Amino acid sequence: MVKSLLSLKELIYPAVCISCERYGKAICSICEAGWLVKCKKTKVLGIDHYFVTDYNNFSSKIILAAKEDGNKLAIKLLSISIANSIKFAVQDRKLNKEIDLVTIPSQKSAIKSRGRDHISVLAIEVVRQLLLMEINANYLPLLEVAKRSMDQSNLNSKERKENMKYAFKVSNSLNSQTGIFLIDDLITTGASIQEGVRALNDAKITINAIITACAVGRNFLIR
Ligand SMILES: [Zn+2]
Repeated sequence: MVKSLLSLKELIYPAVCISCERYGKAICSICEAGWLVKCKKTKVLGIDHYFVTDYNNFSSKIILAAKEDGNKLAIKLLSISIANSIKFAVQDRKLNKEIDLVTIPSQKSAIKSRGRDHISVLAIEVVRQLLLMEINANYLPLLEVAKRSMDQSNLNSKERKENMKYAFKVSNSLNSQTGIFLIDDLITTGASIQEGVRALNDAKITINAIITACAVGRNFLIR
């Protein structure tokens, strides 16, 4: 009965893809496939960076749905995409030990207005997906917000770097066997990642690689 009611609901309100607005599924198979392709490897700040999808009108809607709406399908798709990139990176770097994941923290105001800590939710789901791939990963939220930063959306690249300067601190020391994987959902100008790298370097924590779900074209990235 419940099942037939659901399908009736779907007939009256057909699902629309949150990414491309095509009728059918909440995330259509074409959009989903875009997140499940082989990951790309580039460099950010001299560190190897692995990601799957370019930041564009379609991928940005999945990122926003996960981040701002807590959309479960979007969170799952991002976490599978990040886990696939980590699996690729683990093989590429010939690692066979447990790995440690550290995330770029969200502003406290963002956590408050969303009612949840998006990046932690995502990281916990990434750890779960990695376990299904037989990769043991520890999630260590070592990076913390040290000062209030402005919303970055209206700032240019130089202003973002200034805004993020000393924005993070490291809460605990860590002796990672492999060096940590620094995780974020998205890299745009790279100002947040740069500050994360700065804080971890200052705390003498080695970074093995940077992993994001998506990234803007590499010409925009901080080298
Ligand atoms: Zn779609």
